[in-house]
Amino acid sequence: MRQDEWPISIWKEKELLDGKVVDAGVVILQTSGCSHFHSGGCSMCGYNYGASESAKRTDIVKQFDTAVRQIGEVPFLKLYTSGSFLDECEVPSDAADHILRHCSDSGVRLLFESRPEYVTPGRLGNVLALNEKIEIAIGLESANDRVLKYSVNKGFTVADYQRAAELMNDRGVDLRSYVLLKPPFLTEAEAVADSIATIEHASKFSATVSLNPVNVQKGTLVEKLWRDWAYRPPWLWSVLNVLKTADTNGKKLVCDPTGGGKERGAHNCGDCDHVILDSIKAYSMSQDKSRLGSPECRCAEIWKSVMDLDGFVMGGTCDIQRHFRAKGRTS
Ligand SMILES: [Zn+2]
Repeated sequence: MRQDEWPISIWKEKELLDGKVVDAGVVILQTSGCSHFHSGGCSMCGYNYGASESAKRTDIVKQFDTAVRQIGEVPFLKLYTSGSFLDECEVPSDAADHILRHCSDSGVRLLFESRPEYVTPGRLGNVLALNEKIEIAIGLESANDRVLKYSVNKGFTVADYQRAAELMNDRGVDLRSYVLLKPPFLTEAEAVADSIATIEHASKFSATVSLNPVNVQKGTLVEKLWRDWAYRPPWLWSVLNVLKTADTNGKKLVCDPTGGGKERGAHNCGDCDHVILDSIKAYSMSQDKSRLGSPECRCAEIWKSVMDLDGFVMGGTCDIQRHFRAKGRTS
């Protein structure tokens, strides 16, 4: 089989669905990439690194068929395209129709992602005619237009998100909103406050809110800042703080930090990271805030100082711990 007939990645993970933990299949399809990437892209997104401009309809259909054969029977399928499933330049409508029909016939709940500009009454109507058991994820990232414009370069506004969200609410389609924690140019404390406010705003329209702490991806502005010692991914203490504080009004809140515990992902000192990551996983699967445990660790004091002092330091505090770890490796 040719390389472009394989998805970028396939795996299974656990998902909380209707109060039960079930197996979910995850497929990342190789497409021509996100339309917004081709006009600049978001500051933290490196997902189009592997996107092939030449991916054609047949390839997407073959990739999907290969993926469902590999995954086998699951009640829930998450289909990622690194862009927008509803963008017909990225996923031609006949390929999208094939996928929607397959999931409808096999009774699988289908999650896919889209930027809000592709969630239009006409396109949503076409999709729902083929499959009503869908969930659409939109990366809102921040409910603050200044953060969207100057930190993320998202290319849409909060009002654009709201229009799509309200249309989905009207049509009875479940919305999953992605909320970013710590885009660049925010202090740690500003980032925590922004995520809490965004989760609370997104909860009004969403069935599920997913908190995504920024991780440093290849080829991004965030990576350049990180290499220049001008950016540190969020502390896991910040992730815990956001999850504990945000009021979701009974809506599901989940978090699975990509690269958690590593230098490029949300991390603490290295000693307490894994206990905290396990507690975040347990919370996401149970929605029980008492599971969000945090062991006593010396690094909590450093985090508290960063939360207090970051705003007084030009450009924010740099990652001193990373500097000394790097020094230890080279000497
Ligand atoms: Zn620690």
